[in-house]
Amino acid sequence: MALTIAIDGPVGAGKSTVAKALAEALGILHLDTGAMYRALALKALREGIDPRDADASEKLCDRTRLDVKLSGGGQRTYLDGADVTDEIRTPQVSAAASAISMARGVRAHMVSLQRRYAAESDMVLDGRDIGTRVLPGAAYKFFLTAPAEVRAGRRYDELRANGVPCAYERVLEDLIARDAQDSGREVDPLRRADDAIEIDTTALSQGAVVAALTRAIKGDADK
Ligand code: C5P
Repeated sequence: MALTIAIDGPVGAGKSTVAKALAEALGILHLDTGAMYRALALKALREGIDPRDADASEKLCDRTRLDVKLSGGGQRTYLDGADVTDEIRTPQVSAAASAISMARGVRAHMVSLQRRYAAESDMVLDGRDIGTRVLPGAAYKFFLTAPAEVRAGRRYDELRANGVPCAYERVLEDLIARDAQDSGREVDPLRRADDAIEIDTTALSQGAVVAALTRAIKGDADK
């Protein structure tokens, strides 16, 4: 059975960067599950489909091919065969991904794809429901947190560094709205699995978080 490590948490807690670095340190693959919801949301936006329309979003799943290519160099995400890795990083796609991920059928589709990837190789997966729904039997589960203002600051710096114009207040507002929607949804809401280790990343560098996770995993292996 493949080794699986689940990293969940709210927007901007550092999940994806930490998951990628942890996977590199362990020499295994990383799956950013948010990218899959984002790719579907991008298609909905392009086709003028309201991502809050659950029926239309579920039907959209049926005629969409989502693929990810996982390698040590990082994930590339494909929508109907085209590489959309960079295009899915805008605030519009973030909001649409949060909306489309509320649909039960969309979630079922994504969960089944994610389980299939995880069965193939040892992997770190990051998302919102990895420890609770996708892989409740994951060998290790982590839940990363930080106050909304800290997370918004990080997201703001990231967007600016990628050349996306934005205002901090707007980023904070969007983040609070997305967290509320992700935690409040009926199907597989964002929450910490009972057996997940929670880490507040406020005062920790990315390297320190990765070191803490690696210690938890390796320490366990040494027992
Ligand atoms: O992680 P990221 O911010 O890229 O995720 C985009 C959106 O996709 C989240 O706001 C959330 O609504 C949804 N998502 C989810 N379950 C996951 C990963 C992401 O519902 N496992």
